[in-house]
Amino acid sequence: DGGEINIWVHVLAGAKAGPTLLLLGVQHGDEWGEVEFFRRVVRDTDVTTLSGTLLIIPVASPTALGTLTRLTQWSADGPDMNRLWPGSFNWIAEQIARKISQEVLPKVDALLDFHFGMWGNTLGLMTYGADFPDPKVNEAVRNLAFAYGHPILHRVNVVGGYPGPRSVMGYAGLKCGIPGAAADVGGMGFGVEYENKLHDLNQKGVRNVMRYLGMLPGKPDLPDRFLDYTVNHRVDPSKGGLLIPAREPDEILREVKKGEVLARVVSPYTFEELEQLVSPCDGVLNLVPRTYMVRPGDWAFFVADTTQPDSKWVSAPF
Ligand SMILES: [Zn+2]
Repeated sequence: DGGEINIWVHVLAGAKAGPTLLLLGVQHGDEWGEVEFFRRVVRDTDVTTLSGTLLIIPVASPTALGTLTRLTQWSADGPDMNRLWPGSFNWIAEQIARKISQEVLPKVDALLDFHFGMWGNTLGLMTYGADFPDPKVNEAVRNLAFAYGHPILHRVNVVGGYPGPRSVMGYAGLKCGIPGAAADVGGMGFGVEYENKLHDLNQKGVRNVMRYLGMLPGKPDLPDRFLDYTVNHRVDPSKGGLLIPAREPDEILREVKKGEVLARVVSPYTFEELEQLVSPCDGVLNLVPRTYMVRPGDWAFFVADTTQPDSKWVSAPF
């Protein structure tokens, strides 16, 4: 209708000079739990102790948020905003990505791109790319991912595979030399206490990264070991219905065995069992659902495969 779309950028300018860290959220409108997290970060950040600048874009796609859907605009070449950076056409998501690419990214030294689980799911992994052509970018990206302090690190070929060279972290690393990682630790629908715990964990993650970058005094407070892994199995329903986890509440970081029943799907009409979801390997859960209504292919479990030879428990590289 010719109306404007505003992209709000919070600028938390520190008392001293230093690097600029961008926190980017809600490229996917159904992951709106990130908004409360960013509100807390803005509320709790004391700029008098900060060296450098914290930039926060709580909602990258107001259009997707408005419809509470993953996609910004269904009838577009690239409706998923995290697959089209820096934007080439004039679809809404592409115009937004272009604006952020032109006006914000040039000011940024490091990027955290947030993807919480949508209602009914909790995600629990950091995703980082390891196939940038510039080895310095790879090293900076890897360090950034470890600095967050979440112990489950999915090492992906971001340029050659998932989520691709036109995801924001793919584009930032490949074309701008900006190290970025995806903070996929959060969810909704699990009760206030657990969600507060996840918010605290993410606040600690952001503080850890700011310490690592020299924006806050001190060193990151890190776990002794991290699972640095390559293969994440997506265990999702092939049938729609009511998904009932075998354990409720289930928890991210729980170790599971090959063949373990993780959940079942029952008919919402007859309550008969339609399907069992089974872990395909020994591994660690990094996406868990609560009881909720699913469509075929919907979000249920991620299992980090601990049996792969290139997946190891390691300590931080710095
Ligand atoms: Zn997302």
